[in-house]
Amino acid sequence: MHPEIQTLLALQEEDVEVHSIERGIGALQPRLTDLDRQRQVAADALARARGLVESEEKRQHELQTRLAELKHSHERNLTNLDAVKKPKEAAAAMAQLEVSRKGLGDVEMELQAIVRRLTDARASVHNQEQALADLDASQTAIREEIGRDRAALEEQMQGARGKRETTAQRVSRNLLSKYDRIRGRKGVQAIFPLRGPSCGNCDTAIPMQRRNMMAGTGQIEVCEACGVLLYAAE
Ligand SMILES: [Zn+2]
Repeated sequence: MHPEIQTLLALQEEDVEVHSIERGIGALQPRLTDLDRQRQVAADALARARGLVESEEKRQHELQTRLAELKHSHERNLTNLDAVKKPKEAAAAMAQLEVSRKGLGDVEMELQAIVRRLTDARASVHNQEQALADLDASQTAIREEIGRDRAALEEQMQGARGKRETTAQRVSRNLLSKYDRIRGRKGVQAIFPLRGPSCGNCDTAIPMQRRNMMAGTGQIEVCEACGVLLYAAE
């Protein structure tokens, strides 16, 4: 076999290796994305639980202010009732007192409900914090493992690329640029042997004259049907 064909085949093998390492590195990304997504779900749940506590606390604060106001007006109504002399005024003061008593009762009931809801909401925050901490702890080991895998693959990649560049220097500039262009367009394999009388990639028949020339001189040809590089294997 012509030495240049041998060199080009060696180059192709090294490119396939580089490509497979690239794919290995690329395959790590979905695993990281998956971990990020899981963490986001847990962080969102925690944020929602905290948001609920905040809104209940705000409502509680508003109701406590309201309760203080109502107590104040209820005491004023009591004082008014004590002060009235005429029965008609007494009836009006009683009615007012009844309104403020009912208002107080409503607000106190709502405050009690909020205290119960806050207990649940705070427990939920605690649970979600724990869940997020557990998730982070379990992800740490996986993320470290992915980091180690990546570092190992990148080291392999450096070696494979270096080897590839050394081999590429032994291929003529013209043939190398043709090969790189076709490989870029077609994927990892750019050069194929003839398979019988046909292109080893697309099976289109190659005229006998060209085949004989390829076998005789070691000339590398481009398949006119599929565009790959072709060589005569024997
Ligand atoms: Zn072809």
